[in-house]
Amino acid sequence: NTSNRLGFESDNSGEVKLKAINPTTQKELPETFVAATEQEVNKAVQKAQEAWKVYRSTSGTQKAQFLRTIASEIEGLGEQLISRACKESGLPSGRITGERGRTCGQLRLFADLVEAGHWVDAVIDPALPDRKPNPRVDIRRMLQAMGPVVVFTASNFPLAFSTAGGDTASALAAGCPVIVKAHPSHLGTNALISEAILRAAQKCGMPDGVFSNVQDASYAVGTQLVQHPDVKAVAFTGSMRGGMALHKAAMERSEPIPVFAEMGSTNPVFIMPDLLKGDAQKVAQQVTDSVNLGAGQFCTNPGMVLVLDDDYTATFVKSLASTFAEKEASTMLNEGIFKSFEQQKNAFLQEDAVEVTYISPVEKSAWKGFPAVATTTGRALLHNPKLHEEVFGPFTLVIKCKDLSEMKAVASELHGQLTATILGPEEKLIKWNDLANILQEKVGRLIFNGLPTGVEVGYAMQHGGPFPATTDSRFTSVGTDAIKRFARPIAFQNCPDGMLPAALKTNNPLNLVRTVNGEIAQH
Ligand code: NAP
Repeated sequence: NTSNRLGFESDNSGEVKLKAINPTTQKELPETFVAATEQEVNKAVQKAQEAWKVYRSTSGTQKAQFLRTIASEIEGLGEQLISRACKESGLPSGRITGERGRTCGQLRLFADLVEAGHWVDAVIDPALPDRKPNPRVDIRRMLQAMGPVVVFTASNFPLAFSTAGGDTASALAAGCPVIVKAHPSHLGTNALISEAILRAAQKCGMPDGVFSNVQDASYAVGTQLVQHPDVKAVAFTGSMRGGMALHKAAMERSEPIPVFAEMGSTNPVFIMPDLLKGDAQKVAQQVTDSVNLGAGQFCTNPGMVLVLDDDYTATFVKSLASTFAEKEASTMLNEGIFKSFEQQKNAFLQEDAVEVTYISPVEKSAWKGFPAVATTTGRALLHNPKLHEEVFGPFTLVIKCKDLSEMKAVASELHGQLTATILGPEEKLIKWNDLANILQEKVGRLIFNGLPTGVEVGYAMQHGGPFPATTDSRFTSVGTDAIKRFARPIAFQNCPDGMLPAALKTNNPLNLVRTVNGEIAQH
């Protein structure tokens, strides 16, 4: 189905036709998709608003069944999904198969979360009628779903950060209907997954409008969605420019709403000299593999490597040149990303005090990420703000600092980041505790002796970070806590037990872990 899906209805009355492009062949794929009209966008939101009235009080067990059925429906798409996603993204089938596993695992993790129910964070201060000098009223607080959510799917994860990715899974888990704005790069993948979600919704008796999918390749549909008064939150992964435009549009509404935008991050990696002394070649290989993973199109791609300028550094930089030279360039996600990588990479290489360490020869005819590594100094980073920008693709900048104090000064100047990493011998890491303290102010996740690519989906994960990595550093877009973006606290004062949500009733019918009188309890 190549139409827009407005709940259980299909609509393709629009005049603007869209085609996905295979980035490997650079040719259009045959299917024609139709951009949503203004009326269709309004209808999708209106249906989400109607569905919300029912879906907001759907039980955790029913939502869990819905999420698990979506996962099974996606698995049921089989080879058709893998083949379409490969054609639209240029990514190999192993990567897409892995991403499908992650997507379904994520849906099932949210199912477990909402079935258990503890996520609503119920807090109860029972009345103390005899408290002196004043009695205390009964107050009970919990998290509740916010309303219809708009999800902008990401280009760089056609499954795991897309139509049924972490944003959709967490919003549906919270109890919010979702309207997806499909990424124009993978319209066919999006359509297949949308059908799977809607089949699951019908099988599980979910209300019409719990999920809609609208297509477009201009900014009109996305902007209209963000400005629609019935939309209550937005999730976005993509460029700084796109994220900030949507954030601004949301702030200019008569009722401003949150836009949880994940934008850019250079994910600096700090390497201790003791590590390079032992095995510069091995470290160079690990960094190279991480930078080149997925043609460098990962939000946690390490775009900066900071070292102290000594004899081991020279060996490390030489090793990086040879490990980079062994990497084959792979096809990038789309023409725009390819062109912008070439432009950003070349702009970096032309900056003063930046030396090319290795650059792969570029074949102009292919949309490939031709890897490059360059070297500069801590001093240059302190004086040139351009060198702090993200280059989205297989590129990294080695920054040689004259001493630890300069390295700390550079760390203090870093923008907000999703991650920062310190690599060093286990027993020596403590020597860089001051640096680790500076980095804590800059990042959402501080990594020791691992590389930033590879984001575990779990209960403790934080995939977010201070601006400009995201628009709101208090939240994560990966892991179970992502659900909190789409829920808000509500307190009930002196509410009769019969009118309280089950999570707050005195006899705890859901058997939740709650905070009662300031203590954790399960009664
Ligand atoms: P993008 O250009 O930000 O677009 C993402 C989505 O947002 C698309 O659906 C796009 O709609 C929409 N959009 C963008 N700007 C908008 C605006 N001003 N108003 C309304 N809607 C808007 O991202 P992309 O296409 O995925 O990739 C472009 C660049 O983004 C990359 O080269 C890279 O630098 C960056 N990126 C970063 C990450 C990361 O994780 N840090 C991930 C992906 C991309 P339309 O396409 O329909 O116009």
